[in-house]
Amino acid sequence: MSSFAELGLSPELLKAVEDQGYTEPSPIQVKAIPLVLQGRDLMGAAQTGTGKTAGFTLPILQRLAHYASNSASPARHPVRALILTPTRELAVQVEESVRAYSKYVPLRVTVVYGGVPMDPQTQALRRGVEILVATPGRLLDHVQQKMLHFPQVEFFVLDEADRMLDMGFMPDVKRIIALLPKKRQNLLFSATFSEEIKKLADSFLQDPVLVEVARRNSVAESITHLALPVARERKRELLAYLARERDWKQVLVFCATRLGANRLAYQLNHDGVQATAIHGDKSQPERQLALEEFKSGKVRVLVATDVAARGLDIEDLPLVVNFDLPNSPEDYVHRIGRTGRAGATGEAISLVSPDEHERLEAIEKMIKLTIPRESVAGFEAGTSATSTSAASGMSDRPRGRAPRGEERGRGREGRESATPHLPRAPARPRPASSRPPADPIFSAPYVSSSVPTTRPQVAAHGSSTRTARPIAALLGGVPKQK
Ligand code: AMP
Repeated sequence: MSSFAELGLSPELLKAVEDQGYTEPSPIQVKAIPLVLQGRDLMGAAQTGTGKTAGFTLPILQRLAHYASNSASPARHPVRALILTPTRELAVQVEESVRAYSKYVPLRVTVVYGGVPMDPQTQALRRGVEILVATPGRLLDHVQQKMLHFPQVEFFVLDEADRMLDMGFMPDVKRIIALLPKKRQNLLFSATFSEEIKKLADSFLQDPVLVEVARRNSVAESITHLALPVARERKRELLAYLARERDWKQVLVFCATRLGANRLAYQLNHDGVQATAIHGDKSQPERQLALEEFKSGKVRVLVATDVAARGLDIEDLPLVVNFDLPNSPEDYVHRIGRTGRAGATGEAISLVSPDEHERLEAIEKMIKLTIPRESVAGFEAGTSATSTSAASGMSDRPRGRAPRGEERGRGREGRESATPHLPRAPARPRPASSRPPADPIFSAPYVSSSVPTTRPQVAAHGSSTRTARPIAALLGGVPKQK
């Protein structure tokens, strides 16, 4: 593994990287930095969490450094690099990264995204900016207001291109590309490469080099996957139970719908587990607040929809829970890309109801891993709340009555008990790359939350005992063989 210095970066950039505490470049950085410095177009098959932002930002900063000027004149600060991201959150994070890496190179950077007033952004653009990070819609708004021209753009970065496509931004992206000078360097990053993405890449990349750090649609090896079969009606109860029993400090939970996300966050709070939701119906300040509360530890559970979670970079996120399994297996890859980042270990737990087994199998096929199934005693799919109570010695309660604090969501017990019992998934051989679940809670007997419990002796997620892994373990550091 080479060092940042060996990649040909300037002392100013090396110092900024050192300030970030990076000791060695990640695989995508090793591959991308020299190519971008050489002026090549790039097609980067890398997902968020691989260090790709530094992979494209550092060489761009180096190539633009000679433009750095302390002049106050906006004319001396035209846009030289345009970075498009699909979501506001990712835009903010990319801007923060660019700001950090350009600490000793006085180039101006700003970010524009929708959902907030345009005025402050307009002021910043008026002053002049060399590196602009933007979401497509808001960028076009500024163009329309004649606040932005791109005659001097030398670098164009399309980040998370597959997300752009999913979110319907392609027409906007194409409109923006048409505004750029013909002669420029292009970098495209995408976690997955569908035919459509390849076509898009062909349409604007010039003789690109494909840079791949992980097998397509693969997932980080540092992530442990686990599937917990459970009746749909009892997912919330199981989630609250695990959050309390395992003392989860920070967990990102995925729901299929905005309504579902809102409802789940509300119910978890009701269950005594601090939670908040982040989704597209929330205003940008609300989303930012939710993210801040989650990052600071004020809330333990962030319930998100796929769209809202795109691009979230929450440092050292230890755990992702799929409350609903995603429709598309690719979304699973994106979801769990939020954990096990930058070489840290992570865990991805899916609550799988009987109707979701096909989805689970499709995911396993895509990630080429068999995800171990572990039933939580008392919550096996098909086990009704009534039988749980009996199993846990709570049969003195009236039949069918939930323990206090667990009343909500139990209205369908009758129907649930009629659900055919799902045969317990046979123990399957665990692939070498997935570690056994370390948590005894999955084999511990169910104990109702209304009675005092003995907490299993496991290291709590989010505790300070988590140690950083060397960067070599970043996603893609160990290429998988088919
Ligand atoms: P990205 O894929 O660009 O979103 O980066 C994911 C995370 O990895 C960010 O929190 C970066 O700060 C971090 N990171 C990027 N490059 C390195 C590196 N060489 N060593 C350690 N961490 C890094």
